[in-house]
Amino acid sequence: NALITGITGQDGSYLAELLLHRGYRVCGLVRRASSQNTARIDHLYREFGELDGRLRLEPGDLCDASSLSHVLATQRPDEIYNFAAQSHVKMSFEIPVYTADVTALGAMRLLEALRELGLEAKFYQASSSEMFGRASETPQTETTPLYPCNPYAAAKAYAFHMTRTYRQAYGMFAVNGILFNHESPRRGEEFVTRKITRAVAEIAHGRTQPLRLGNLDAGRDWGYAKDYMDAVWFMMQQQRPDDYVIATGECHTVRQWCDLAFECIDLQLSWTGEGLEQRGMGPDGRVLVEVDPR
Ligand code: NAP
Repeated sequence: NALITGITGQDGSYLAELLLHRGYRVCGLVRRASSQNTARIDHLYREFGELDGRLRLEPGDLCDASSLSHVLATQRPDEIYNFAAQSHVKMSFEIPVYTADVTALGAMRLLEALRELGLEAKFYQASSSEMFGRASETPQTETTPLYPCNPYAAAKAYAFHMTRTYRQAYGMFAVNGILFNHESPRRGEEFVTRKITRAVAEIAHGRTQPLRLGNLDAGRDWGYAKDYMDAVWFMMQQQRPDDYVIATGECHTVRQWCDLAFECIDLQLSWTGEGLEQRGMGPDGRVLVEVDPR
């Protein structure tokens, strides 16, 4: 019996799929929206919700402690996966207080509701490699000191420490998965990987404006979200709770991602210029990628 917060997001939807196929009953916490926000799990709901009743969706919000207590008390999950967050780094500079409320205090509210109810449930916290920030060593490990450099990372660092604190202070089975970036067709379209793949698809269908990106030289360790959800499930099946870093160990640049994405529509990019002047041209000399200095 599992509870997933953030089930409507990329990771929550893949984890729900994994758990349902393993025979779990899954309850997903869904916050109220003025329009339907369940596109990533509609296929699951048709198969497992309406037909065999193993997938339930319950209203709730990480900002609302009473909704969390209610869902824990009524669903009595054995495993809790906390994926809900304001998960966008740039947005976290624009709405830092809200980001802290959801991403930091939201995890805390869930842990505290769990402790107060005295449920024996295992708890997973979706921690992030962003917490390493200006890291003092490479590669980063479970013991690398955290040096968050943005409001999202700072909020995640708080939730990370509280998860560890509840494990040590109350003996809870509380796990931190420190995941490097992971992507998929279900990644939000405001993240760079989908921004690129979406623009490439549009260009293949006649879009004439170039794709505009920020720092083409930025490097990231990008994995595949579905694989990472296998890792998350394994963390929760260990004898003892612990913290784990998950990464591919390979760094690739945004420019390399563009090269590969354009290759999918048989366009080989040639690059000219440097820094803000960089441009990716198609074989006919048309500018397909350019830097947006903003
Ligand atoms: P995502 O697609 O942005 O999904 C976030 C989820 O949180 C959505 O279901 C969203 O619901 C929900 N949510 C937001 N605010 C909420 C609130 N106040 N109450 C309840 N639910 C709320 O994120 P993701 O890529 O799947 O990532 C999952 C988790 O892993 C996040 O915590 C993220 O920070 C963390 N993480 C992600 C990565 C990565 O590369 N993807 C790496 C490390 C860590 P709506 O659908 O209603 O918006």
